[in-house]
Amino acid sequence: MQVHRPYTLHDALALMAATPTPTPIAGGTDLLVSWHHKPKEKLALLDLSQLGGELAAMRLTADTLELGALTTYWDVIASPEVSRAFPLLAEAARQVGAMQIQTRGTWAGNIGNGSPAADGVPVLMAYDATVVLQSTRGRREVQLDGYYTGYKKTVRLPDELIVAIQIPRRTRKAEWFEKVGARAAQTITKVGVAVVNDEKGWRVVANSVAPYVCRCRNLESALQKGQKFKSPEEIRDILKNDIAPINDMRSTAAYRETVLSRVLFYRLADKA
Ligand SMILES: Cc1cc2nc3c(=O)[nH]c(=O)nc-3n(C[C@H](O)[C@H](O)[C@H](O)COP(=O)(O)OP(=O)(O)OC[C@H]3O[C@@H](n4cnc5c(N)ncnc54)[C@H](O)[C@@H]3O)c2cc1C
Repeated sequence: MQVHRPYTLHDALALMAATPTPTPIAGGTDLLVSWHHKPKEKLALLDLSQLGGELAAMRLTADTLELGALTTYWDVIASPEVSRAFPLLAEAARQVGAMQIQTRGTWAGNIGNGSPAADGVPVLMAYDATVVLQSTRGRREVQLDGYYTGYKKTVRLPDELIVAIQIPRRTRKAEWFEKVGARAAQTITKVGVAVVNDEKGWRVVANSVAPYVCRCRNLESALQKGQKFKSPEEIRDILKNDIAPINDMRSTAAYRETVLSRVLFYRLADKA
């Protein structure tokens, strides 16, 4: 196994351009879980954790929040300014694992891992975040909303690194996040949802109900038209065209559909 430890982003990008492409590792809290099952002989890792500069910075301006790729959950929890400006980020961060994971795990790693159960991705997507990708060929920005193309499949090219996540600052009329798991803490999401209503409209983003974290566009358009719901079943019917939950070791498709529509019904009755 080979581990590259670049000290500059420039060096890291040059290493990403090599063949075979190394696997980027930030906090390692996803990658190292399956460590014992990985064949190590041909493994090449690119350790991003020593990179400072823009990758480690979190910048809040009047218009935008930019999270450098090494921003951890704890960085957000520990910043009163960021927590006030984007409360759902702090709320989701507090529900990721426990403090050990919150201080190592990065928002970019949560996006990069591509799990449908990721808890950071729904709040970022509900806030309309953009992913900044960089390679030796240059930089490009991709809406997080369009980042996933299938289960653990993304538009990121092999030589690209996520260098930042940008979130626009907007006036919001409603915002909330709900994570449902088997326990109150240290739990993998059975079903979750982040909802934001801002000047660009409603965004309803659910996790653990499709091959990747997804927007519920039919429900969003019903909300946009001002529809009021009389029962959770009404929401469940609309969601049938938005989500595709499965039965697995953590839950059943029926449970996920039922709980998601109930959470949405009671929360929307409160806030819509
Ligand atoms: C005990 C435990 C509890 C957990 N609880 C939760 C939870 O409650 N909710 C939750 O969502 N997750 C949870 N996780 C998963 C994990 O902590 C998060 O997904 C975390 O955000 C991953 O970040 P990382 O920096 O550790 O990623 P890493 O493990 O370093 O990387 C994850 C993936 O992203 C890629 N990657 C990382 N950085 C970049 C980059 N800059 N550019 C391109 N690709 C990149 C890596 O190649 C890899 O494929 C838990 C994990 C553990 C071990």
